[in-house]
Amino acid sequence: MTSNVHYTITPVSLGGHLFEVTITIPDPGAQETRLSLPAWIPGSYLVRDFAKHVSRVSAECAGKSLRVSKQDKRTWRIEPTNGDVTVSYEVYAFDLSVRGAHLDTTHGFFNGSSVYLCVEGREDESLTVDINAPGDTRLTRSDWRVATTLPRDGASEWGFGRFRAEDYAELIDHPVEMGEFDLVEFEVAETPHYFVLSGQHYCEGERLAQDAARICQAQVDLMGKLPEMERYLFLTRVEGAGYGGLEHRACSALVCARDSLPMGEATLREGYRKFLGLVSHEYFHLWNIKRIKPAVFTPYELEGESYTELLWVFEGITSYYDDLALVRSGVIDEASYAELLSEIISRVRAGAGHAHQTLAESSFDAWIKFYKPDENTPNAVVSYYAKGALIALALDLKLRELSDKTLDDVMRAMWEQYGKRDIGVPEDGFEELAEQVSGMHLRPFFDAMVRGTKEPDFDLLFERMGWELLEAPVANAPITSLGVTFEPGTTRLKTVRRDSCAEYSGLAAGDTLVAINTLQVKVDEPWKALLPFTAGDTISVHAFRRDELKRFEVIMDKRPATQWKIASSADANDKANARRARWLQR
Ligand code: ZN
Repeated sequence: MTSNVHYTITPVSLGGHLFEVTITIPDPGAQETRLSLPAWIPGSYLVRDFAKHVSRVSAECAGKSLRVSKQDKRTWRIEPTNGDVTVSYEVYAFDLSVRGAHLDTTHGFFNGSSVYLCVEGREDESLTVDINAPGDTRLTRSDWRVATTLPRDGASEWGFGRFRAEDYAELIDHPVEMGEFDLVEFEVAETPHYFVLSGQHYCEGERLAQDAARICQAQVDLMGKLPEMERYLFLTRVEGAGYGGLEHRACSALVCARDSLPMGEATLREGYRKFLGLVSHEYFHLWNIKRIKPAVFTPYELEGESYTELLWVFEGITSYYDDLALVRSGVIDEASYAELLSEIISRVRAGAGHAHQTLAESSFDAWIKFYKPDENTPNAVVSYYAKGALIALALDLKLRELSDKTLDDVMRAMWEQYGKRDIGVPEDGFEELAEQVSGMHLRPFFDAMVRGTKEPDFDLLFERMGWELLEAPVANAPITSLGVTFEPGTTRLKTVRRDSCAEYSGLAAGDTLVAINTLQVKVDEPWKALLPFTAGDTISVHAFRRDELKRFEVIMDKRPATQWKIASSADANDKANARRARWLQR
């Protein structure tokens, strides 16, 4: 027998979406053995209770069955025995997201946090795992391969076989893709990088490799050095629609829409630009959250919620640098970058939540608010991604204006002080370091922007960069607005904006609009019914609330500004232009 904990994982039923996992625990001694599954996956701050997909847990020692009992929703207990214990169980895998596990006839994908029970008390020991080919060969082809950054320990390159990890945390930080996939290879910092493309797709690999290499290089240039790794993988699932990613220490798992990959066109399509933004985002996480981490994540406590006010630092600053790397690498031009920034400003201002929740609160309550959206979310929640990116932008511009340092310097200092030395960032760590690096008194700024709901003065900040922020008209929009959004393809209200005329009239989320001033509201363009009215007009709205027809009197509001645009300022001087060039072209 081996002397370390050893796992095997086998896709035993592609039709039934089942992995079988065994764990061999060398002589656990006279104590009972406890095994548990994480309740959440690092990077996605929601308790997901992965244990709900685990079943048929059994244990034996030298051919004799051992008693297994459940301690809580995610923990199993095995009676004490003498000798090596083998535990077996099934995992149902039918979640096609970057956070879970999925298995069908086309491929398998899993995060360790969905499949590997942790042997309590031995989480710091090194271990091995055999990743086996599907047992059920009727439903699959023999050319399935394996893509993972888990260190190989006998497995051939891209093959099934044995892998190893230094500890349980490492085991669950290397997701695994198995099936047929294409590889797109490029090199950054003398380290091989690959896109692993699974799912039907057309992709101009050369273009993708070229663009991604430039973006990754821009991030390496910013942070100084690529952390030591054998290779980096973008495990990319291509679907008809979808967008998302999850970061890991040497790879990221991505989902993208089929038409967001480059297909030979000369221009940079919007969908592809968005995909490159995602690539850039996950890659920056290599430093910011995978190595520079909040102290409460050092180590991760995976049994339940883990609270920090710093998610805006890790997701917001990463969101700031994802787009910035696109322009710094030359993949997009300054005008496109300005467009991306104005979209974020418009998005944050569009929700009433930015005036009601602070960034610190949004970070802390991510578990119950940001990750559990409902009809009230736009009124009550501000995104620590979007608003966090704006505060990072404002901080960077402020440092550039008032000191000889930049946010780049602060992030490099975060690396030197915390990431590189494997020290968790205390809750006040980022703010203190920003003050230290810049020599500025920044406490009032953070009090207002992070612990308050104040918005930076972008008019002033952009002026110094030779830009101006203008309200952009929305084409074809009525001059009044109800302050509601609709469920796509229906006249059913999805949200009602706080302090809007719809709210004052009593209309509620879930109401289905039928008629405005007795004329039918059309499904495809419900807002068209508002075209005849000006602010102050009283209109009559008929709507079904559940199955009851109701009538509401609405005194129309002027349509609030919803879109902003950054434009080059007509009176930008050379100094401002030079300052902007230093910022955007490293
Ligand atoms: Zn992120």
